[in-house]
Amino acid sequence: MEEHGRWPYANGSLHLGHIASLLPGDILARYYRLKGEEVLYVSGSDCNGTPISIRAAQEGTTTEVIAEKYQQEFVEIFKKLGFSYDYYTRTDSTFHHQAVQQIFLDLLEKGFLEEKSTEQTYCERDKRFLPDRFVEGRCPACGANARGDQCDHCSAVLDPLELKGKKCNLCGEKPAIREITHYYFAFDTFSKELEAYVDDAADDKRWRDNAIQFSKRYLREGLRERAITRDLLNGIDVPVEGFEGKKVYVWLEAVAGYLTASQAWGEKHQQSIDAWWKQDSFTKAYYVHGKDNIPFHSIIWPALLSKKGETTSSSSAKR
Ligand SMILES: [Zn+2]
Ligand SMILES: [Zn+2]
Repeated sequence: MEEHGRWPYANGSLHLGHIASLLPGDILARYYRLKGEEVLYVSGSDCNGTPISIRAAQEGTTTEVIAEKYQQEFVEIFKKLGFSYDYYTRTDSTFHHQAVQQIFLDLLEKGFLEEKSTEQTYCERDKRFLPDRFVEGRCPACGANARGDQCDHCSAVLDPLELKGKKCNLCGEKPAIREITHYYFAFDTFSKELEAYVDDAADDKRWRDNAIQFSKRYLREGLRERAITRDLLNGIDVPVEGFEGKKVYVWLEAVAGYLTASQAWGEKHQQSIDAWWKQDSFTKAYYVHGKDNIPFHSIIWPALLSKKGETTSSSSAKR
């Protein structure tokens, strides 16, 4: 049994909403331990994402200072509340960085990553590219206010270029468009495999109905190749010559934390966890997350895992 709660961002204090979303994971872990199952319950703080750079820029400090402050605060709070994590880590750990770089190189070697030049939003005033949450505007699908990576209102996964009325999140100016080179993950080649995977989950009633419906709709709309690297100040360096300064994008890096945290736990306890993550393993993985994270757990992470020849039958438990 593997238990994973959605990882909190280390860019601000936890509030009751965070705790409410983390609690079901702890309940599941305790339930299966009581039943006598072997449980590994891991989680960690997301210390690499854009929200932390934005917070650091606002407070005039470094991302390291912000991440350290909130990591300590989270660990303290989880201890006081009695959370029963077997391992609580952070995505700015050396172990996580190296393990993700290895996954990236595996995908590259197996031919699933392609270098491509595209256009990206750029702020002339801040003199930097503006990926993801660095751009805000209106969702092209539903018209609600949305961030460059995702619309919280309709859950559409977005590219900053698609937003209407784009604004730089740092200074409020309208961004320019510039050409940029990035690696893309051949996500579109996984459609058949993922359709079968979601159908299986539906047949076995492994996921909540809305997770199944959402995933089916996501697949029906068609999978597109997705940029897997970003121009960010903080995060995991792309381990390829010529890509200095670019980082592995959070959608690979953050979900990979479920695997790397398990590996880190295994290393600490000198126990191999490889068998738990194999395709034919008896391990059952529970991912506890909100509805805005469905595609990352029901589509993106299974695609990445299948490429490594490692898939666990997952149960997507929405809070
Ligand atoms: Zn929307
Ligand atoms: Zn700006």
